[in-house]
Amino acid sequence: MSAGLAYPWPEPPAPGSAIEVAPGVLWMRLPLPMKLDHVNVYALDDGDSWTVVDTGFDTAKTRAIWQTLLDGPLAGKPVKRVIATHHHPDHLGLAGWFMERGAAFWTTRTAWLTARMLVLDEQDAPTPETIAFWRAAGMPRDLLAQRAGERPFNFADTVHPLPLGFTRLQDGQTVRFGGRDWDVATGDGHAPEHATFWSRDDDLVIGGDQLLPGISPNLGVYPTEPGADPVGEWLDSCTRFLARAEDRHLVLPGHKLPFTGLPMRLDQMRENHISALERVVALLASAPQSAVGCFPALFKRPIGPAEIGLALVESMAHLNHLARQERITRAGTDDHGAELWRVA
Ligand SMILES: [Zn+2]
Repeated sequence: MSAGLAYPWPEPPAPGSAIEVAPGVLWMRLPLPMKLDHVNVYALDDGDSWTVVDTGFDTAKTRAIWQTLLDGPLAGKPVKRVIATHHHPDHLGLAGWFMERGAAFWTTRTAWLTARMLVLDEQDAPTPETIAFWRAAGMPRDLLAQRAGERPFNFADTVHPLPLGFTRLQDGQTVRFGGRDWDVATGDGHAPEHATFWSRDDDLVIGGDQLLPGISPNLGVYPTEPGADPVGEWLDSCTRFLARAEDRHLVLPGHKLPFTGLPMRLDQMRENHISALERVVALLASAPQSAVGCFPALFKRPIGPAEIGLALVESMAHLNHLARQERITRAGTDDHGAELWRVA
C-alpha cells in the first residue's frame, strides 16, 4: 500500500526568491503567460558554480527575474551548467542565453535535436500539412479559416537561439552535479526522451513534466508524426518509473509543488488516461465522432478557442492509441473533411 501525496512546502517561492528544498538545492519559479501560469526551475550548488535545471521562456520579463535571482540567491558564483529536462520552450527557453554567458548545456539527444530544429523552423503561416491535420481532426470551419490566415505560435518566439554544442544525457547513465550522483532515467509520451534524475545520495528526484502532481501533462500527436502513439509511450513510461519510485522520494516537478507519494501519483497518472480511453470508446460506441467530437468524453468541460490546439492534439493521441489496439477504426469523413472514428 503506497502513501498518499504530501506537499512539504504549501507555498511556492515568490518571484525573484528561492526556497532551499535540500542542502544546496534551490527551488525558484518563473511566470508563464498561459493558463498554466508558472514553471519551476532549480539551481544546484556545485561548490564554485551553479547548475541550473530548466529555465522558463525567453521573454524580457523572465530574463529580468533571472537577473534578480543571479544577483540575489545565486550571487557570488557563475552558472556553469544548464540542464533541460525536455525540449519544451518553458523548460529550455533560456538555455541558449545561459550558454552565451558561459554555461555548458546538458540534455538528451532527442531534446537537443528537436529544440534545434524547431528554433530554426520559423513559419509565417501554418503549413499545408498542419491545415490538413486540423481539418481531419474536425476543427470547426470558421476557426480553421481564421487559423489558416494567422501566424502560428513559433518555438523561436519564446526560445533563445541555441548555440552549437551540448553534452548528451542518456537513460541508464549516472551523472554528477549539485554534490550528488544522479541516475538518469528517460520517459516518453509528453516529450520524447524526457530526462529525469534520481539522486543516489539522498531522496531527491528531478521530475520535469514526466513526474507532476495535480495536473496531467499534455500528450499530443502533431502533423510531424501523425501516426505517433504518445499515450502508449506515456503508459509504458509510468510503468517503468513505478519500478523505481518509492514513498521516500521527494519529487521536484516542472510545475506545481514538490511532493512525496510518487508511487501513488504514477498510478493516478496511468489511471487518468486509461479511464479517458474507456470514455472515448463508450462515446464512439453510440456514434462515430471526429477528434474534436471526442472532447466532451475526454475533457468533461467546454474547450474554448485558446485551448483547442492542445485539446485537439491530446484527443488525436487517445484515438491513435485506441486504433493501435484495434479497438477503434476509421469510419470515413464528414461533409467538412473531418475524419470520423467508430468502435471496431
Ligand atoms: Zn513539457
